[in-house]
Amino acid sequence: LDAAPAGGLDILRSVFGLDAFRGQQQDVVDHVMGGGDAVVLFPTGAGKSLCYQIPAIGRPGVGVVISPLIALMRDQVEALKQAGVRAAALNSSLSPEENRSVRQALRDGELDLLYVAPERLAAAGFLDLLASVDIGLFAIDEAHCVSQWGHDFRPEYRELAKLRELFPHVPRVALTATADPTTRADLIERLGLEDAQLFISSFDRPNIGYSIVERANARAQLLDFLARHKGESGIVYCLSRAKVEAIAEFLTEKGIPALPYHAGLDAGVRARNQDAFLKEDAVCLVATVAFGMGIDKPDVRYVAHMDLPSSIEAYYQETGRAGRDGQPSEAWMCYGLSDVSQRRRMIAEGNAPDEIKRLENTKLSALLGVCETAGCRRQAVLAHFGEQHQGNCGNCDTCITPVDTWDGTEAANKVMSSIYRTGQRFGAAHVIDVVMGKATEKVEKFRHQHLPVFGVGQDISVKTWRSVVRQLTAMGLVHVNHEAHGALYLDEGARAVFRGERTVTLRRDPERKKSDTNRALA
Ligand code: ADP
Ligand code: ZN
Repeated sequence: LDAAPAGGLDILRSVFGLDAFRGQQQDVVDHVMGGGDAVVLFPTGAGKSLCYQIPAIGRPGVGVVISPLIALMRDQVEALKQAGVRAAALNSSLSPEENRSVRQALRDGELDLLYVAPERLAAAGFLDLLASVDIGLFAIDEAHCVSQWGHDFRPEYRELAKLRELFPHVPRVALTATADPTTRADLIERLGLEDAQLFISSFDRPNIGYSIVERANARAQLLDFLARHKGESGIVYCLSRAKVEAIAEFLTEKGIPALPYHAGLDAGVRARNQDAFLKEDAVCLVATVAFGMGIDKPDVRYVAHMDLPSSIEAYYQETGRAGRDGQPSEAWMCYGLSDVSQRRRMIAEGNAPDEIKRLENTKLSALLGVCETAGCRRQAVLAHFGEQHQGNCGNCDTCITPVDTWDGTEAANKVMSSIYRTGQRFGAAHVIDVVMGKATEKVEKFRHQHLPVFGVGQDISVKTWRSVVRQLTAMGLVHVNHEAHGALYLDEGARAVFRGERTVTLRRDPERKKSDTNRALA
């Protein structure tokens, strides 16, 4: 039977068993099917995979998909095979025989889709092999990996720039859920996709509720949060492997089925835990950020961060793993000042060039801005991606429980002059002791009880002072010197506050609200 070439919608229905395209999927599919290059910027869960899978099936030749994660490849190939698509993957996890048989199938024109790791393309022999077969398209998944500005730079991705010269007539489609304009522009340039058609959709994930809390007792706060998600699956991110294990153990003790996942675990354990998370209900996976990219579990109901992510981009990406099925889900973060100093120290001690270090610091400050904002968090996150949102989303903590602000100019003056008068050599705890007038051993040793700022801040609780310092740090008025045990020092910008040229608006924390109420009653 001579069938007419199948259209995108036919393939969607007959191969994938789905009724209709979502959003701009059809536009992308039509464009790529017709041989055009495309850059697809859709959020996680939007359905980017079909945007290249369908044209790969519909076009003559094999669709070559460059993907950075073996786990993702395996899952996708498995799902495609079950749908009757001739798919295979080439990566380091294959045995030499498997490798050979995939290459043979490729040579024989027996594949619709071939997933390859980026380092594979860099190998000369493999490019020669590709040059000898009929290629329907190249799909570059997680395309932000080509950019240093992105949150997951992979040098091997740079090699993909060659594809344009080597295969000038093969359409290329680059896909990512990374939303910041710098990374977007960079990846388009790096991959030589200036003439490609751009498909962008809104990055809002309305079904995800956001909340960010200050750390008081992190474990108790986490338990409170998880109590809202009994019997559901979710991810708890921690910064270090040690913390992953400690938190997983803690949750297990508390009767919450939790499993650890980090790069230091035995590969077998890691695979088993990931599998349990994917296949069983109600598993809480405690993981480092090594986990998650490319994981397609639709019913992840929550993502919790026990430490600050590195940037708004990373926060968005990681929280975006919740609620791919469109059902209500929650993103929750617990952070403190120690996170900020730890991050700044990690950046300072890293071997990145100064330019990158500065950028990382800027990104961190931007994220802190989202943490400390008194406005809608969704609006703040989307604004960072250049997307307008009217705010008042009704699905973030600051919208649900509006935060009060207060004029913190006087408080800022007090604590900053305490930093200044003590010689910009002490950490937050001592600086706060001085404003609060606490005659500690250290205060007496340095004779700080004689400073004019000593005891000028007794009207505010120690908790509030900590928050003030944190917010001033987030605003960039105060810095932490990591070479000097976290000593606080002032930014140039502090002068304007001292001179009365700049006011400081602070978020009113719950403690402060309480003390104000008491005062009002008194
Ligand atoms: P992304 O790569 O953009 O994060 P995926 O391609 O993994 O998203 O798709 C997310 C989920 O949505 C998958 O479970 C996929 O099967 C489903 N999906 C994608 N497109 C459609 C569609 N048109 N109709 C129904 N489900 C879809
Ligand atoms: Zn909101």
